[in-house]
Formats: sequence, C-alpha cells, structure tokens
Amino acid sequence: APPLLRLQNAVKHYPSSGGAVQALNGVDLHVARGETLGLVGESGCGKSTVARVAMRLTPLTAGRLWFDGQDLAALEGEALRRQRARLQMVFQDPYASLNPRQTVERALREPLVVQQRGSEADQRERVAWALARVGLRPEMAQRYPHEFSGGQRQRIGIARALMLRPELIVCDEAVSALDVSVRAQVLNLLLELRAEFGVSYLFISHDLSVVRHMSDRIAVMYLGQVVEHGARDAVWKSPRHPYTQALVSAAPKVRPGATRTQRILLQGDPPSPSNPPAGCRFHTRCPQAQARCRSEAPVARAVGERHWAACHFA
Ligand code: SF4
Ligand code: MG
Repeated sequence: APPLLRLQNAVKHYPSSGGAVQALNGVDLHVARGETLGLVGESGCGKSTVARVAMRLTPLTAGRLWFDGQDLAALEGEALRRQRARLQMVFQDPYASLNPRQTVERALREPLVVQQRGSEADQRERVAWALARVGLRPEMAQRYPHEFSGGQRQRIGIARALMLRPELIVCDEAVSALDVSVRAQVLNLLLELRAEFGVSYLFISHDLSVVRHMSDRIAVMYLGQVVEHGARDAVWKSPRHPYTQALVSAAPKVRPGATRTQRILLQGDPPSPSNPPAGCRFHTRCPQAQARCRSEAPVARAVGERHWAACHFA
C-alpha cells in the first residue's frame, strides 16, 4: 500500500524582499497508514511549512505531494473536497483557530456542513459524541471559546479534527502552548485516539522528548532539509547526525538516573533561510565540521537498519 502522505523532493521558496526564503529544500518524507511520524527541529527549520504544504494551504515550488497514492497537488473541485475530509489539522493555538463569536457546536459542525454530511440533527449528535470523546461535557457545545481553559480549547481543536473521521491528523506544535501537566493529558488523549481509530499523525514539535513519546519514526529537520530520519529508538538512542546528537544531548532524560551524555552546545543561531550556507547547511554550527563540509552538500545515506543521516562522516 502507498504511504498515506508523501513528500518527494519537496521545495518551497517564499518570495521576500531580502531574497526568497528557502523554507523547504528537497524534503523527502512519508507517513505510513497507522503510524506516527515525528518531525522535529528548531523554529524556522521548515516544519510548519511541511504542515501547510500537506494541508494544501500553500503550493510547492517544486517536487511532489502524494496522499494515499494520489497526486494531491493535482486534485481540484469535488475530488479535493473529498480528500480534505481525510486529512485534518490541530494547530498550536486553538484560540486563534476558533471563531470567538461561534459556539463550540457551530465550530464543530462546520466541517460537516462544508462536506454536506448528515442532517442537522445528525451533526449535533456527532458534536456531542466528539466532545465526549475528548473528555468534555456535551452541554459545553453551547459555550464560546473564551469560556474555556487552554487545555479545554485544545481538546475542542482535537474534537473538530475528529468530526470527519480523518485518516491523518497533522499536529503542529499542538501542545507547545500548554502547561506541562495539561500537555501530558492532551498527548495521552492523542495516543488513545490513535489506538481507538487507527488514525495516523504527522506530529510536529520543536521538543524532541515530546516527539519521542509520540512517534514510531522521527525525522529531524535543519534549515529546510531532513538531516536524519529513522525508527524512533534508532534516532533517539544512537543519533548519527551531529545536529541530532546536539538535540538529544539537550533533551531531558525520562528515566531518573539515566546516564546523561555531555550536553553539546551549538554555537550561534541558525543561519537565515534566505541565505543558507553552501555545502552542508549545518557547517557554520557543526562541532565536527571539516573543510569538505563548506563546499560539498552531504546526501542522506543508510547508517543502520531503517536509519538514514545526511552527513559526510555519519
Ligand atoms: Fe557536520 Fe560536515 Fe556532517 Fe555537515 S557534513 S553535519 S558540517 S560533519
Ligand atoms: Mg512552526
């Protein structure tokens, strides 16, 4: 079976006065049915652009985008509307994605109205079901977004994503704005929904320990490129790209008393995506850079079973 979502040599450049912002530069990744791919990297590395491209909120500059074997970029009209129901998104800031003048019921019914699914009574029933499923009381449907806490609003965002029974949910920093205790509850809810409905996730976060908790596979992005990807434990336990090694060294260890490797501190900020370094894009900050890295861009190669890294010396 084809993967649910696939980006193939995806390039996205945004025009800007200081030269095009090279948000994605040859990104290959996929999400198989039933799995969670965690996408991790610093802010500005292109993670949210991957989400926006997958949701067809913005077109690719070059490369291909597939959903369940269909060329997503080519879909239009009715075929696109049908496809849209299969792929939903949970945003970082649920408040910004909810209309303050709409009741929760109105907001949750909206995807069903757009997709022309069921009678109004069916739609209300489904709203009650979705609210219950995310741990909210059905009577909360008549309230407005400002009446809820941040964690409750994120549950509403998840309920809305569930309304159409999607096959894939893109979560872009879905728990980053939440307090630590609430964050764990929302992550566990996402895991329960996955077990219950077999939904797949593209789970995007700057926080490697959260990504590790959620994912079957992990892809690490730096400055518009995937620099390492592989099975969760391969990437987490034996990172092979120097950038991933730095991220792992900085992540809080879950087991108390676990041996903590020496923290690798990266020098400086990531370079501007309008003017990325030649050769390996990480060379300006890489503790292991050699002369060759300044001129020659590394390609991803296998460094273990189901494990790839794009570094000359991995
Ligand atoms: Fe560092 Fe060179 Fe490897 Fe790039 S190719 S990650 S600069 S060692
Ligand atoms: Mg982002």
